[in-house]
Amino acid sequence: MSSAGVLVVVGTPIGNLDDLTPRAVEALAGADLVVCEDTRRALKLFSAAGVPPRPMLVANDHTEAGQVTKVLERLRAGATVALTSDAGLPGISDPGERLVRAAASEGFEVRVVPGPSAALAALVVSGMATGRFVFEGFLPRRGSGRDERLTALAGERRTIVLYEAPHRVSRTLSDLASALGPRRRVAVCRELTKLHEETWRGALEDAVRRSEEVEPRGEYVIVVDGAPAPADATDDELSVALHRLRADGLSTRDAVAEVASVYGVPRRRVYDLATRQ
Ligand code: SAM
Repeated sequence: MSSAGVLVVVGTPIGNLDDLTPRAVEALAGADLVVCEDTRRALKLFSAAGVPPRPMLVANDHTEAGQVTKVLERLRAGATVALTSDAGLPGISDPGERLVRAAASEGFEVRVVPGPSAALAALVVSGMATGRFVFEGFLPRRGSGRDERLTALAGERRTIVLYEAPHRVSRTLSDLASALGPRRRVAVCRELTKLHEETWRGALEDAVRRSEEVEPRGEYVIVVDGAPAPADATDDELSVALHRLRADGLSTRDAVAEVASVYGVPRRRVYDLATRQ
C-alpha cells in the first residue's frame, strides 16, 4: 500500500471488452479497493482484464453518498482506490461525482484512466457539429421539469447529446420534434461498439416514425443538431417555438418575448407570426 491514498477514475468499455485499455487493466490490478456499481459486472471486468478479483465496494445511485466516508477512510489509510462504473466513464450519468469531489476536497490525488463514453462516441459518429456541444444526460421523465428542459433546448445552438432508455426513445424523439421542430436533424445511435451497432441520421419527424415502426432495443444516444443561427431561423421554427410555449400556458405576449430573445429576432416578426396562428 502506498503512503498517500490515491483515487483513480477508471474508464471501462461501453460494450466491446476489447476497448478495455492496458492502463485500465493496470489500474484494476494495482488497486487495493475497487469501487463498482455491481459486483457481478466488476467480476466480469476482472475476468476480461485477466486480473484476479480485488476487494470491492459497491457505490450505486442509491448508496454512493453513504460510501463516501468509507472510501475517504481507506484513502486516509494510504489505499489506492479504483473508481469504476458499469460502463464507460464514472460520473457520466453514473455514480462517481461525489466520490471525486470528496477525495479532491480532502487533498487526495485524483487521477484518471480515460476510456470510452457513449456520449462522445455518439457525438463523433453523428455527423453533427462537434466544435461546441451540450450533454444533457437523461431528460426528466415527465412533468414540468421535462417541459422546461425541452423548451430551453429549442433555442440551444450547440449540438445536443442525450441518453435514453429504449422504451422511452420513441416518446423522447416525439417530444423533441414538437419542441425543436420536425425537420431538425438528429442522429440516433444504438448499441455503439457492439454487434448491432447502428447510427441512423435524418429529420426528427422521420426518426419518430421509424421508432414507432421498429421497436427500439438496446442502448441509445440521441444527438440533435443545434438551433440555427438567429438570422437563419425560419418562420416555421419560430411558429413551432411559439406554439409550444403557448401550449405550456404562456400568454401570447410572454411567448413572443421568450421566442424573440431565444432566437435573437425582432419581437415584431414573432408577434406577426403569433397573430397568424
Ligand atoms: N457512464 C456511461 C458513459 O460514460 O457513457 C453512461 C452510463 S448511463 C447509466 C447508460 C446510458 O448510456 C444508456 O442508457 C445509453 O443511453 C448510453 N449508452 C451506454 N452504452 C451505450 C452504447 N454502447 N451504445 C449507445 N448508448 C450507450
